[in-house]
Amino acid sequence: MVGAGLGGLAAAIRLACAGRQVTLLERDEVPGGRAGRLHRDGFAFDTGPSVLTMPHLVGELFELAGERMADHLQLERLDPAYRAQFHDGSQLLVRGSVEAMRDEVAAVCGPAEADRFVRFADHLRRLYEAEYDHFIDTNFDSVLGLARPVVMARLLRLGGFRRLHRLVASHLRDWRLIRLFTFQAMYAGMSPYEALGVYAVIAYMDAVAGVYFPAGGIFSVSRVLADLAVRCGVELRLGADVERVEIAGGRATGVRTLAGDVVPADHVVLNPDLPVAYEQLLGARYTPRRIARLRYSPSCVVVHLGLSGPLKDAAHHNIHFAAGYRESFDDLLAGRTQRDPSWFLTVPTVGDPAMAPHGGSVGFYLLPAPNLHGDAIDWDVQGPAELVSALRRIEQAGYGTPDVVTAEVVTPADWRRAGMAAGTPFAASHHFAQTGPFRPRNVASTVDGVVFTGSGTVPGVGVPMVLVSGKLAAERVLQARTPGSRAR
Ligand SMILES: Cc1cc2nc3c(=O)[nH]c(=O)nc-3n(C[C@H](O)[C@H](O)[C@H](O)COP(=O)(O)OP(=O)(O)OC[C@H]3O[C@@H](n4cnc5c(N)ncnc54)[C@H](O)[C@@H]3O)c2cc1C
Repeated sequence: MVGAGLGGLAAAIRLACAGRQVTLLERDEVPGGRAGRLHRDGFAFDTGPSVLTMPHLVGELFELAGERMADHLQLERLDPAYRAQFHDGSQLLVRGSVEAMRDEVAAVCGPAEADRFVRFADHLRRLYEAEYDHFIDTNFDSVLGLARPVVMARLLRLGGFRRLHRLVASHLRDWRLIRLFTFQAMYAGMSPYEALGVYAVIAYMDAVAGVYFPAGGIFSVSRVLADLAVRCGVELRLGADVERVEIAGGRATGVRTLAGDVVPADHVVLNPDLPVAYEQLLGARYTPRRIARLRYSPSCVVVHLGLSGPLKDAAHHNIHFAAGYRESFDDLLAGRTQRDPSWFLTVPTVGDPAMAPHGGSVGFYLLPAPNLHGDAIDWDVQGPAELVSALRRIEQAGYGTPDVVTAEVVTPADWRRAGMAAGTPFAASHHFAQTGPFRPRNVASTVDGVVFTGSGTVPGVGVPMVLVSGKLAAERVLQARTPGSRAR
């Protein structure tokens, strides 16, 4: 197997638990990929995901190995999950339970909207249940896999094929609440005005099912899964950069590392971003033409801040919505920088002060930005200016003047250098033609014995989805017609 991102780790654990001999080669010195770790001047930074949802998917991996997640990972359900700040000065907290959220909505938007919210939360749950088995946790072998009339009829009834914004606005009236339940379309690389209602499940995971935080930060998930993989018998080799997949007679026979080691295998599971895995590890001859035509999600600029003191009144997750909500999506999806930006600020030291030296805090500022297929921006020149803008916005938003001890800016150019197609860490977008049976498949069509896991393939982007992708990839290996005993 190549790549110890969360998708790769999930696949490796499942294969090892099924009795396969697994060698996992990871080029970095730490596991986790995008969910990695950066240490600077005594501060610990999560490099990617900050919002952890559906942690039971991590728990499933421990159960498979006969262990309990709680013995390894200390998880807290965040309340509030988010603090949303709007351009008119008002704010809404996304609370940690439907009951608490009903009270918040009643206080900010009125009791009638609170009743509508409770009904809507139930609607989202039903939509999620209707989709999970048939669209998320499933390997599609053809488009026919979609066409189960009972499922389609249920989704139609639940508004899954209406536009997301319309669906949400048909249940809720307060514009702030509508934004809070539609902005997640951005995670899937779409505008809520374009995305189908089925994508409301992301809002369900995010704003209803709960946001969790592991002590030590999200990297703790990567660390405990890597340790679990090793306990399950996976041979994890860190610092092993794979140069290419070895192919003979149309079948993968193993991989070759940059150091020149050849690791033979009956199946090769690839976790690097799928288009990059095709182009660099399999080569042009084995890369389907469609891969060059994929459309990508917008990217982001991240500014990691190590601060000497607290950020005043910050919640763990803070979203700052621009006045022009629709315009933000229009700009990003047209490949432009947002004229009036919406941005996020996560302060993980609210959950675990030990991530900063005594009394300090960690700030994770994320600004959605065009990917490298958009505006021609020299991000290496622009990077320092993004730090200045981040500090200005943080101060103007009322968090106080940040006293910066250390800072690191990550731009779309850096994401590209880290191996992500189009310079976006959010993969190929999830518009209809790139979703479900239309998403690049997790088995290579051009060479036998190659399986993909991670956000570039089914079901898609985000921590829960890549954990599911690991399960789907393992199923592909375990069900292959030429079963072997080694997955490398
Ligand atoms: C800034 C940011 C914010 C995010 N926010 C959230 C969030 O809040 N919530 C959420 O759920 N998701 C979030 N995501 C998305 C989430 O992090 C990803 O979807 C997920 O972690 C991707 O996992 P993966 O397994 O597909 O790939 P990766 O994590 O990229 O793993 C691929 C691995 O393959 C390795 N590799 C690549 N090439 C080679 C090679 N040639 N040889 C050996 N190893 C190789 C890489 O080093 C890497 O470890 C965020 C991502 C980023 C970057």
